[in-house]
Amino acid sequence: MGGRSKAWFRQASPIIFIFQPAPLSSSDSPLCRACMEANETPTHVLLQCRGVDEQRAAYLGSPVSLPEALGDLGGLLSFWSELGWLE
Ligand SMILES: [Zn+2]
Repeated sequence: MGGRSKAWFRQASPIIFIFQPAPLSSSDSPLCRACMEANETPTHVLLQCRGVDEQRAAYLGSPVSLPEALGDLGGLLSFWSELGWLE
């Protein structure tokens, strides 16, 4: 009863943590580190970025929506780790 959204949030909270924007410094750019063609947003990296095509296919398959991509927490962490973006 009304617990679904809370459960979803608990499951997703590590993801939200991962996507916390890094503190801005003068040399940082919001552009995607992989392709430099678009802003680095979860939607871009997980669904659209051509710079991480290989890694995304290997760890996440071909998610068509953000919830689908976020549903595979293990794959997501492996994907991020492979990119070296978990610093
Ligand atoms: Zn990109």
